[in-house]
Amino acid sequence: MPEAVSLPAPTAPDPVAIRATLINRRDRLAALPQAATATRVASLLSEIDAALDRLEGGHYGACSRCDGSVEADRLAADPLATVCLDCLNEGERRALERDLETASRVQAALLPARDFANAAWRGHYAYLPYGAVSGDYVDVVASSEDLLVMVGDVAGKGVAAAMLMSQLHAMFRATAAPGLGLGEMMQRVNRLLGAATTANAYATLAAARLRADGSVELCNAGHASPLLLSAQGVEPLPADGLPLGLFAEAEYSTRTIPVGAGEGLLLYTDGLSEGRGPDGCELGVDGLRSLLGGSPKDAPAGLVELCLGAAASHRGGAPAHDDLTVMALLRAR
Ligand SMILES: [Zn+2]
Repeated sequence: MPEAVSLPAPTAPDPVAIRATLINRRDRLAALPQAATATRVASLLSEIDAALDRLEGGHYGACSRCDGSVEADRLAADPLATVCLDCLNEGERRALERDLETASRVQAALLPARDFANAAWRGHYAYLPYGAVSGDYVDVVASSEDLLVMVGDVAGKGVAAAMLMSQLHAMFRATAAPGLGLGEMMQRVNRLLGAATTANAYATLAAARLRADGSVELCNAGHASPLLLSAQGVEPLPADGLPLGLFAEAEYSTRTIPVGAGEGLLLYTDGLSEGRGPDGCELGVDGLRSLLGGSPKDAPAGLVELCLGAAASHRGGAPAHDDLTVMALLRAR
């Protein structure tokens, strides 16, 4: 998450919410007509009762095979889970891998083309999930008047974050319209996301409307500062809005930035700026500024490659620890 806004990380599930979910499921099962599924229904009912007992006893979320805990994001997706990832047996592990492969294909199908352009702008992005799926969100919506681009970061990791990312995708696709102001669009998505998800689910996001006249309308919901790549140097454009999905009444203001011919913008997630080196320090916005300050800005793909190379060399050969997305946008000369 960006330094601009400090938020709690997704934590252990709320017992009140878990109890309500479990009781709701029990009621639904109990209401089913007696049928051939009776045996399975009976066993599900007893699993639900056992989960309620664990909740009463204060050991809900404990792994039944070791001293550890079941991961919070897996409990949120399956409140009956009783085994932590490390303790899954071979068959359970294969089933989980198949789910991840499916989720990965679903996610890949949502990604826009890597290269995109209109009369005034060219763009390119890289999207590198940390695991099989990513909690990063990237989208490009082209209309006859402008290009709408978005780079965001959903709280959490893994399948739960990926599912939230696909909800965001659907919400923006349903909301984006050429005549609609960027701030209004963000307000609608904020309300939709808040209504559709749990209290722990939110996303930071930077959105930019790239107009054919070369100007850029920018709206930033608590996301890592986009960088303006201008003739004067590299300038961070800090967040001024709250993350999406937290407060239904949040308002989103936008700013219009003049971008000169041959100048551009860099949008990214904290997987780029907060990637740590062997000494524990982050690449940081300053690292990105000095990297991009002296570089030629003639191709968006070249700028993206430059950032990925810098992130990899900053890690000193260690693998990445977070999802990483970086998008470069250049105005035609
Ligand atoms: Zn375990």
